[in-house]
Amino acid sequence: MKPKYRLVVIALLYFVVASAAAAQDLGPNIRKLKDGIYVYVGTKFNSNCGIVITQEGVVLIDSGHNPTDSRSILEAVKKLSPLPVRFLLDTEPHPDHTTGHFVFSPPATIIAHVGATASMIGREKESPGRIEKLAGTSPEMKKALEGYRFVPPQVEYRQKMTLNLGERTFELFYLKDVHSEADTAVWLPKERVLFSASGIVVDQVNILRPFVTIPDILAASKMMKALNPEVVVPGHGQPGTAKIFDDTEKYYALLVERVGAMVKAGKSLDEIKKELKMPEYAQWASQERMPSNVDAAYKVVKGN
Ligand SMILES: [Zn+2]
Repeated sequence: MKPKYRLVVIALLYFVVASAAAAQDLGPNIRKLKDGIYVYVGTKFNSNCGIVITQEGVVLIDSGHNPTDSRSILEAVKKLSPLPVRFLLDTEPHPDHTTGHFVFSPPATIIAHVGATASMIGREKESPGRIEKLAGTSPEMKKALEGYRFVPPQVEYRQKMTLNLGERTFELFYLKDVHSEADTAVWLPKERVLFSASGIVVDQVNILRPFVTIPDILAASKMMKALNPEVVVPGHGQPGTAKIFDDTEKYYALLVERVGAMVKAGKSLDEIKKELKMPEYAQWASQERMPSNVDAAYKVVKGN
């Protein structure tokens, strides 16, 4: 082999070995969705975090369930790109998506829908000592919390915004009353990857707070399905396809139908909560949240 060719072969081999090592080295939670697009899948329905590499920096979608996750995410990011995390897009303001903000910002600018900061401040007031308690859960958590600061979003948008960074476009959509006070779906139109936030979850009963309505969830589901995504990353649970939306619609249709039949049979709300059976979904996680689903279905049936 001519020395020139030998050099090319060595360079190629080095590249192959280096990429393989990098691919294996990202930790057990990281899944590659597309070139430069990864998701850190939370263990046991813990929240997911999207990692998007661009030519002008990294964009994260949420910051990990706990600061231990945030630290692992930062380690993975450093292996994927020499560039800093420029933006962090919040799909919701709850602590299981935002406690790790301090790990990334600065330098990251955090973007969320209007209402996110107020929601975060409200939660902090409701649960004094939350960070101390969290630090007490394990030595790893205590270490991960070093340098903790409460970091609310620096930018709040209304309804819709577009972020262009490098070769990529991120479209942010507000999802009204599907889970929290400020839910955002993040859509990458060129790559057809959608981060659907926590109004839609997978293999798990969702928690429906009093202001959350089933019609709002179904409207959000329909809107997101119409985008025709190839990959859908829910706020919690395994990434999948647009089938996530079909499953969601099917579940709520059956729930409303069963609750409707029980109302017709003269059952009270309390009786329905005790007697309702959804055996088709018995394997879903978080069954203790079912009463909140009955409340929402009852409102639909009663027309309020
Ligand atoms: Zn939440």
